[in-house]
Amino acid sequence: MSFDLTPTIAQHDLAKRAHEFAEQVVRPVAADYDARQEFPWPVLEEAAERGFYSPLFYRDLIGDPTGLSLPMFMEELFWGCAGIGLAVVMPALALSAIGQAATPEQMLTWAPECFGSPGDLKLAALAISEPEGGSDVRNLRTTARRDGSDWIIDGHKMWIGNGGIANVHVVNAVVDQELGHRGQALFVVPGGTPGLELVRKLDKLGCRASHTAELKFTGVRVPAANLLGGDDKLEHKLAKAREIVEGGRRSGSATLGTFEQTRPMVAAQALGIARAALEYVTEYANRREAFGAPIIDNQGISFPLADLATRIDAARLLTWRASWMAATGVPFDRGEGSMCKLAASEVAVDTTERAIQTMGGWGYITDHPVEKWYRDAKLYTIFEGTSEIQRIVISNALGAADGKPPMHVDLEPTGGPLNAWFGRGTPARTRVANAALDARDKVPGPVMNLAMKVLRPPRR
Ligand SMILES: Cc1cc2nc3c(=O)[nH]c(=O)nc-3n(C[C@H](O)[C@H](O)[C@H](O)COP(=O)(O)OP(=O)(O)OC[C@H]3O[C@@H](n4cnc5c(N)ncnc54)[C@H](O)[C@@H]3O)c2cc1C
Repeated sequence: MSFDLTPTIAQHDLAKRAHEFAEQVVRPVAADYDARQEFPWPVLEEAAERGFYSPLFYRDLIGDPTGLSLPMFMEELFWGCAGIGLAVVMPALALSAIGQAATPEQMLTWAPECFGSPGDLKLAALAISEPEGGSDVRNLRTTARRDGSDWIIDGHKMWIGNGGIANVHVVNAVVDQELGHRGQALFVVPGGTPGLELVRKLDKLGCRASHTAELKFTGVRVPAANLLGGDDKLEHKLAKAREIVEGGRRSGSATLGTFEQTRPMVAAQALGIARAALEYVTEYANRREAFGAPIIDNQGISFPLADLATRIDAARLLTWRASWMAATGVPFDRGEGSMCKLAASEVAVDTTERAIQTMGGWGYITDHPVEKWYRDAKLYTIFEGTSEIQRIVISNALGAADGKPPMHVDLEPTGGPLNAWFGRGTPARTRVANAALDARDKVPGPVMNLAMKVLRPPRR
């Protein structure tokens, strides 16, 4: 499937329905949930009614071979409110981790448990980060040890979306200390399992409608069936890890690159915030008058907005490219997932900050949503890998590529024999063009017109 910016009819409709949901249901209540820092259950119910809260919906979007459905949906939803958006899509992040690790039977068991159904909603959480190790996932200290046919999990997790209130917690834990980050495995811990404690709900700067928590695991017992991927896959993974460790090979950027494929999802969320702020503040600058004219007439106001519009579009292209790569299995050799997350999150922060500046005092108070968007956007340079971590992934990839040309040079080309012989830029085509030009005075007009038709750029 080649990379194509034209949406399909289904994608167009999806983006339209997601935008309507964001505009009619999410935006009107966003400020209230933010102020009260309360979980938006009624909005989740409405999302479920509209088909936006179900495992099949997200599996379908992840499976879209163009890669564009998921980022399009995310951008529209998060245009409404990032806090509520996170509450809606958090189970999809857990589902994505389950999808990468689980057996098909485990997927069938746990995917419905992550979402529930309208009227009986369920929640899911992905618990990786710990108080001592967010960026450095090699430093995770939560352990899982085998006890007969069960696993016993002990540890401490921090900043966990839906933590403690979720029906399904996907938890990573070290099963073999000596293998470092390669000795980790993912487990499902159902909500309410004895020993799983919600220590506290965290009080956040932004994205306050989402629930984020500190968790403790004390002797949490889960059956062997809750080890994602199962015993054989774990044994195989550990054996391979031992070979690497005993062989003294470096672990490279594998750990930091683990989330490369999910980063476009998060980047698209940041783009939703950035776009919301740019649209809002452009309208404001068109109407707000100072010194007898709309403030947008000042280049001091309009040029920064022009730069941000350019960066938002560039970040969207990076995001869609990374999403297309994930969908079509193109390897992320140059840190393309990190590039989109870095560009999108930083432009979201810069756009929302500029929105406040452009609105002056009105931007600084809660009468307008831009101060909230600024607080929301800041999360995006921190979670799913901080900006510094994205730069590490990209620079490691740069170093490993050692001067390799850009990605498109390495991609398997498309096109048939006619394209190979007479495609644009081929020597045969150039020869024909030159011959036609040389013969322009000798060849009858209609024949010349025909030749020019073949050579001219395509017209719509
Ligand atoms: C609201 C919120 C929601 C979250 N949701 C989840 C969730 O659902 N599940 C989950 O598992 N986690 C979640 N996280 C955790 C998040 O992923 C981590 O906070 C993040 O990875 C950063 O880890 P840290 O906070 O420990 O920072 P640290 O790793 O301690 O980093 C501190 C600073 O040092 C920098 N730094 C670290 N190492 C380097 C280096 N080698 N070179 C240069 N700079 C470096 C970092 O970039 C950062 O600026 C969430 C966090 C927040 C705030």
